[in-house]
This record gives sequence, C-alpha cells and structure tokens, in this order.
Amino acid sequence: MQKGINSAIIVAAGSGSRFGSQIPKQFLLLNGVEVLAWSVHAFLNHPAIAEVIIVTSQPYLEGVKSRYPDCQVVLGGSTRQESVFNGLSAINTETEIALVHDAARPIIPDHIIDACLQKLGIFDGVAPAIAPADSMVKIEADGFSNLNRAELRIVQTPQCFKASVLKNAHTTGIIDTDEMGLVKQAFPSARLGFVEGVPDTMKITSASDLKMVEMYLRARSS
Ligand code: C5P
Repeated sequence: MQKGINSAIIVAAGSGSRFGSQIPKQFLLLNGVEVLAWSVHAFLNHPAIAEVIIVTSQPYLEGVKSRYPDCQVVLGGSTRQESVFNGLSAINTETEIALVHDAARPIIPDHIIDACLQKLGIFDGVAPAIAPADSMVKIEADGFSNLNRAELRIVQTPQCFKASVLKNAHTTGIIDTDEMGLVKQAFPSARLGFVEGVPDTMKITSASDLKMVEMYLRARSS
C-alpha cells in the first residue's frame, strides 16, 4: 500500500446531455442520496485518502462547496480531460498518488481502492477493469469483424497514477477519453496495469443505468 499523500479527484463537471435530464446525472438522487455523495463519502472515509477534490461546473460550484465542506471544490472545463487537469492543479504539492474518479460511478468499494493503491507499489498507473459479458464486434464500412472478448476489458475508475506521471502526461497536448489512454500515448513505456473491477462501479449514462445501480445496492443490502 502506498503510504504518501493520496489525493482523490472526482470529476463532476459534465452536463449529462446523454441522460436527458435538466439536472446533470451526478446531482440526481440514488436511494435518496445525491449520486455525487456516494463516491465523495467512499473516498473521504477511506483511510488511505488524504484529500478529496471535486471538480464541477459554474452553475453548481457554490452549491457543491456548501454541501461538501470537507472537500476542495474547483471549476471544471469543457471536456473531461480539462476537468481532470483542473483537479490535478488543485491537489497538494506533496501528493504522490492521484486517483481520478467519475462522479457518475457512485459505487466504488474500498477493496478496489485498496487494490489499486497496492498495485501502484510497482506500477505507474492502475485502473479497475472488467471483462465484457456480451459478444463484441467492430463495425466496419462493409460489415463487421468479431473481437475476442476474452482479450477485451471495460475500463472503469478510479484511474490511479503516480501524480508526477499524470501531471506530465497533461503537459504533452495529447488528448484522450481517459487517463490510462492519455498516459499510454504520452509515455509508451509507462508501467500501466489493471485490477479486477466490479460491475457495480458501472457509469450512469441513462435513466435505466440509475435503476440498475439501485438494483446492485438492493442486492448488496439483502
Ligand atoms: O460524459 P461522461 O459520462 O463520459 O463523463 C464522465 C465523468 O466526467 C462524469 O462524472 C462527468 O461529470 C465528468 N465530466 C467532467 N467535465 C466534463 C465532462 C465530463 O467533469 N467537461
């Protein structure tokens, strides 16, 4: 387990346009509690996490500040990567490990955070990933090709890095949809690895995803 300062950055600056609700999905209620609150409390209560930075958008900035007084709250950008950059700019200068988590993934079990931190003893970057349950295909101009699902993984968050590696990757000008992709592009020889994730950490994108996460919570408490 990494013993230095570990900082969690929770990105919550998306507009949730795909969800089709006026209110971004991270501010909707899951079992009566704001979606954002689930992951914020998971990280705040984790003994290895020293600070939690929430990145959010201007209309929600003051509200988030008042609801999460134990967190530092900063303004996001127009892309997820810009929001991560703003969060990274706010972490403690002594931080050794930065964990980037999507607010849209409310369920993050402690053992996943533990496993990522443990593996960072020998890796530069680690993220949870799960094997796809369905057959996977690649759509092509004239049809499709089959992909071997045994070789594929669905990558989740928190994506966890030696903070210096992630900060350096952000100075390269490279753009990617997640930190694992960005660091791999920036530093092809970086030691990047995965730990086994859980389906509960799925990202809420649509209203039916919110229902699915409610089902996971019900199954967990029964
Ligand atoms: O849009 P998507 O579901 O991929 O977003 C993943 C996470 O990134 C969400 O928690 C969302 O709030 C966050 N995000 C952000 N800033 C953006 C876009 C997305 O913090 N500009």
